[in-house]
Amino acid sequence: MSQQESSVTVELPDGSTLDVPSGATVEDVAYEIGPGLGSDTVAGKLDGELVAKEEPVYDGAAVEIVTPSADEYLQVMRHSAAHVLAQAILREFPDAKLATGPPTEEGFYYDFDGIDVDEGDFDDLVAEMEAIVESDLDIEREEVSIDDARERVAGDPYKEEILEDLAAGDRGADDDIETVSFYGQGDFSDLCAGPHVASTGEIGAIDLREIAATNWRGDEDQPRLTRVYGTAFGSESDLEDYWERKEEAERRDHRRIGREMNLFSIPEHSPGCVHFHPDGMAIRRELEDYIRGKNDELGYEEVWTPELNKVDLWKTSGHYEHFCEEDEMFHWDQASARTEGDDADEYGLKPMNCANHVHLYQRERRSYRELPKRYCEFGTCYRNERSGELSGMLRVRGFTQDDGHAFVTREGIQSEVTRTLEVIDDVLADFGLDVTFKLETQPDDSFGDDALWERAEDDLRSSLDALGEGYEVEAGEGAFYGPKIAADAEDAIGREWTVGTVQLDFVQPDRFDLVYVGEDNEEHTPVMIHRALLGTFERFMAVMIEHFAGRFPLWLAPEQVRVLPLNEETLGYAHRVKNEFEADGFRATVADGDDTLQRKIRRAHDENVPYMCIVGPDEEETSTLSVRDRAEREARDVDPETFRDHLRAERAEKRLEPDFLDE
Ligand SMILES: [Zn+2]
Ligand SMILES: [Zn+2]
Repeated sequence: MSQQESSVTVELPDGSTLDVPSGATVEDVAYEIGPGLGSDTVAGKLDGELVAKEEPVYDGAAVEIVTPSADEYLQVMRHSAAHVLAQAILREFPDAKLATGPPTEEGFYYDFDGIDVDEGDFDDLVAEMEAIVESDLDIEREEVSIDDARERVAGDPYKEEILEDLAAGDRGADDDIETVSFYGQGDFSDLCAGPHVASTGEIGAIDLREIAATNWRGDEDQPRLTRVYGTAFGSESDLEDYWERKEEAERRDHRRIGREMNLFSIPEHSPGCVHFHPDGMAIRRELEDYIRGKNDELGYEEVWTPELNKVDLWKTSGHYEHFCEEDEMFHWDQASARTEGDDADEYGLKPMNCANHVHLYQRERRSYRELPKRYCEFGTCYRNERSGELSGMLRVRGFTQDDGHAFVTREGIQSEVTRTLEVIDDVLADFGLDVTFKLETQPDDSFGDDALWERAEDDLRSSLDALGEGYEVEAGEGAFYGPKIAADAEDAIGREWTVGTVQLDFVQPDRFDLVYVGEDNEEHTPVMIHRALLGTFERFMAVMIEHFAGRFPLWLAPEQVRVLPLNEETLGYAHRVKNEFEADGFRATVADGDDTLQRKIRRAHDENVPYMCIVGPDEEETSTLSVRDRAEREARDVDPETFRDHLRAERAEKRLEPDFLDE
């Protein structure tokens, strides 16, 4: 009996489907579409996951073909560059053990055991890597049986472990794996799933970035490894641009500027938590006032809820399980010390405000006439991030969200989400940020049934369509309780930061048995919308410091005007001028030290003060000011009244740059 060849059906990016014989690879699919595409194929994507072109497709898979013109090509090339680094390292340290070497957002890294390098060795190492690139070695894939693979990796404990994981099917692969792949180039070969470019010569430009210490599997109890970071680009000029951007990012680093402008610090006694210094707090207060105004506009009622709660609160919401599993929550059981009643319960610091707001909703019987019911809070939360992950105000353990929750009817979702997106759009425009909305859909660890997810995602899509600004879809990136829209802001040097979010939640209302009485007098379950306009104040401030490079718009600047007296005699006039600014609610100071005027001007520039008023005997006699801005422009004989009128307007309109001296 002849065996009928079975086939699988795959979906192509244009939405059409294609039947291919079972066992067909990504490359076979490409050839099926067209011979030109087939020969250009470097790799593929199966349901969004980057795979080697030799990977068999499966029934129902969404297949994309990656060619040298695709965005993913850079990632593939960088993975090959990581292998070039490993090859160069082995030439220098033949006994080195290789761990893992993936591509990253900025390039690639490889983790090694048994090497002794520092950044002073980079020139030699890069020269070796460039020699490998220039030799244009073919990169060849080889399928090897598990047993043969065991022999090949024998003596390399990390590869042995990776291989055993693969053999056991622990890495999400099919259950019974018979072969694994190796990629080889010249004298180098690595156990690796790929994909890779065809030869080392396809790497346009390669460089090394830095060295860091790490541990195998990121686990402190495992052996110490040396991580070497590098990067690769299609051309030398792209690499040069990268280094320039990098330098610019370092110049703008919020930790450095925060120190120089005395805005904040992270105290040793509270790692991951922020001390806001008076000038940093001035910025935060402006942000808080601004967001309060926006919350009022959206109809939110401001509340405050406790940071310390019994963990039962999050057992109902499902957060407890989620956060404890990841060891991301600060919680403790007091039972050992006290054994009676409340004292014996397990407590935690809230990792989010949602469950507290749910309790506020539940205090009364709600009617459809009250919906949407909206609570907002500048809620301080704590998450137990690993100390190695902490970074200035960007990655913290204690943070305050500009949080808000709206409880709406199913019919009310779309208009609520649309209004919120409009406000987020306005808010980010006020900071001079371009926004890209991203729709993040159902992740693997989701709660709730698929039909609910689908409806929720449809609602968010409709709102994004209504906004009419276009959006991107990030499949599988939603939170575990609902799909989400993230507002990604592009800063002054083109970096993207997720700031605002709008998140639908069909799960919490169900778990907490939330209801409202509908027009039909029946009980219905409301839908919960989580949203933040800026995200957290810490992170947003860090992003703003870097975006403005410390040169804040007038309304945000911690010190808005500095009055510089020419000499001791004009000190009295200087203080009168300052007092008038303060009466208008401006943050103003007098530079009354002994420094020369030139030095005082220099310092005000260094500290990014938007405006300086220089006052000497001439100004005092004519009751005028000499005004200087941080762009080093100057005007004499300025009428103080006229100047203050301008400042009030500049502040109210949130203009991004001091513009009194324009024209
Ligand atoms: Zn690899
Ligand atoms: Zn929430």
